Amino acid sequence: MPAVHCLTPETQIVLANASTRGKDFHDNRDAAETEFVELRNELIHLQTALYAEGRQKLLVVLQAMDAGGKDGTIRHTFKGVNPQGVRVTSFKKPSSEELAHDFLWRIHQAVPGRGMIGVFNRSHYEDVLVVRVDSILPEDIWRPRYETINNFEKHLVDTGTTVLKFFLHISKKEQKERFQDRLDEPDKHWKFDQDDLHKRAQWNDYQHAFEDMLNNCTTEHAPWYLIPGDQKWYRNLAIMRVMVATLKNMNPRYPEADDLSGVEID
Ligand code: ATP
Ligand code: MG
Repeated sequence: MPAVHCLTPETQIVLANASTRGKDFHDNRDAAETEFVELRNELIHLQTALYAEGRQKLLVVLQAMDAGGKDGTIRHTFKGVNPQGVRVTSFKKPSSEELAHDFLWRIHQAVPGRGMIGVFNRSHYEDVLVVRVDSILPEDIWRPRYETINNFEKHLVDTGTTVLKFFLHISKKEQKERFQDRLDEPDKHWKFDQDDLHKRAQWNDYQHAFEDMLNNCTTEHAPWYLIPGDQKWYRNLAIMRVMVATLKNMNPRYPEADDLSGVEID
């Protein structure tokens, strides 16, 4: 397992001290992109075996500031993977029906079944992020959720799900550039949301909330990976390495085939 970006329960991360740029592998973007494509081909084969085996489940959770690269990560890493075996869920503001239930109700319905890869674009962690920063609920409601989340993820792991959680860490400067791009390019206007500026104004509160999320919810069974996100090529390779190593470790096997030697087709 490439532990480079994997947090441990003992570490207390301070995001202001954590680099948003990758340093530890490939200064060379071309080499990184070549490795990325090779690994993606491996991912495609591993996913096919996972689906055929129909026993294990993989959940990939993505969290980041706006323009942090969640969408781009999904688009690049799963390109060419059989869509039938991957289910992406984007968690938006909860509906009134969702709000009428406990916060994990909608999450639990979206976790992957046997043989599937589930991808969460935002997740149950919004319930200790935006809910906290915007004071949607009081602290005595959101604070105990860290433990609730740890127990929930433990339950998923105990019932055959491998959980990978990636926090894409970008700088405030990089976010500004990406927002500016969205303003400058008409084809990207649809990605620009005025509300993102409101969230940008709360940058420090969000960084603090992310820190607590990373520090309180990195467990042995479901650690967070802290991914430097300013360079997209670095981010993609860092995540791809973890995903491929994890799937290799899960070691999905094609089911034993029946003896087909006597089978004839008219
Ligand atoms: P994009 O990056 O493409 O804009 P997005 O994930 O930002 O995608 P939006 O529809 O713009 O999608 O935003 C979803 C919004 O829903 C976010 O502002 C997020 O904070 C909010 N949200 C998600 N979960 C919750 C929750 N449990 N409670 C309150 N708000 C939530
Ligand atoms: Mg948005």
